Amino acid sequence: MKKYWLYLEPYILIFLQKREFLVYNCINYESKLFQRSSNLGNIISQLVLLENMYCLELNEDEISEKEVEAFINYIISSFSGDLIRSDKIKKPAIFSPALKIYGRKYDFKTTGYQYDSKGIDFSLNEVFIYIGGDNPSSSLADIEVYKQFDFCKKTEGQHLPYEKLTVILNSLRSWDIQNLNILGGNIFTYPDLEILINELAKLQFTIRVYSHYKDIPKNKHCLTFLKANRFILKILIDAPIFYGRLDEIFHFLSDNNCKFELIFAVTSIIEYRKAAFIVNKYNLEQFEIKPVFTGANIKFFRKYVFLSKEDVLTIKATQQEIYLKQTMNIFHFGRIRIMTDGRVYSDLNMSPLGDVGTPLVDMLNVEMCEPRSWLRVRNQKPCKSCVYQWLCPSPSGYEYAIGKSNLCMVKNGLDL
Ligand code: SF4
Repeated sequence: MKKYWLYLEPYILIFLQKREFLVYNCINYESKLFQRSSNLGNIISQLVLLENMYCLELNEDEISEKEVEAFINYIISSFSGDLIRSDKIKKPAIFSPALKIYGRKYDFKTTGYQYDSKGIDFSLNEVFIYIGGDNPSSSLADIEVYKQFDFCKKTEGQHLPYEKLTVILNSLRSWDIQNLNILGGNIFTYPDLEILINELAKLQFTIRVYSHYKDIPKNKHCLTFLKANRFILKILIDAPIFYGRLDEIFHFLSDNNCKFELIFAVTSIIEYRKAAFIVNKYNLEQFEIKPVFTGANIKFFRKYVFLSKEDVLTIKATQQEIYLKQTMNIFHFGRIRIMTDGRVYSDLNMSPLGDVGTPLVDMLNVEMCEPRSWLRVRNQKPCKSCVYQWLCPSPSGYEYAIGKSNLCMVKNGLDL
């Protein structure tokens, strides 16, 4: 009886679930779903075992079974692997894709990765400091938008005392962070703003200063600090939009070579279209349009934000991006938030890690050892039994806001 090697290329990932599996090509991002019928199920279970190195010997009878044949035809026609006579060639050596994480050790008892202490220093990349000030002019101030994504928040006039802020800035100097974000309230009403700006100007980080567009002062003198290359004004925009004011702001910033980026917070498709209109009108490049869950716009989310199966299949994820999603939360990893009361969070939907008096390294050690925020991946129900588990984005603040464990139409989410 003739025998064959069936092998897969190393850029092919197999997402295996109980009843089905997905063949995913990390180069052209194509994928195909197969049922795990008994013969094909056995073959795929063997093929992905590390010791088999993505290659199995099959005989004529095995490859002629209908479902196995269809699978092999797909593998060959999609350049995902091949079937070759095994009497003519030794077993091909394929280095099957396997995740190896430096600075982490594998804990076989929990079948999960754990960080060792090395690497903590490099893990913190971005810090958000909510300094407070007056309430922002955002029409969404009564909604906790900042728990869905970083945005200005209602402060009731609270602010982070400058003495505490100095302690934070001094402790950050020894960390290799790239980005520092300053948010309010209305940051332009922070009592010690001028001193703060002078201190920030001495730091080496890129500094983004968040302000609702209506809170940006008309007095241009207040914005001269933006001429320094290190500062970027992050303009927050929500409805209703006063086009004249925006026009004035954009012209001032462009005429003075100030860097700026925009976040449009939209609660409906009409607001989305208005944001898109502004982006086109001003030919803007640095912008994000982010949906906001208000508690009353679930239809908008279901129709335009939740992923359908077709949407998931348009996700183009490289092998590296898939490994990232398997190990860390792409929205939270490397980021901490410091609030006006001095509490420090990795995710504003979770309990604090400590406060400004707690050594940063201790807080990060906790974060690196527990899958609470930085390490929260899609390994909960129902995602853990879904073949698209590692294609979908990591869990975000939206799941908490909506109260569902997933944001898709593929499987019913559980109530959080
Ligand atoms: S159930 Fe989870 S993994 Fe599956 S498509 Fe929905 S969000 Fe993605």
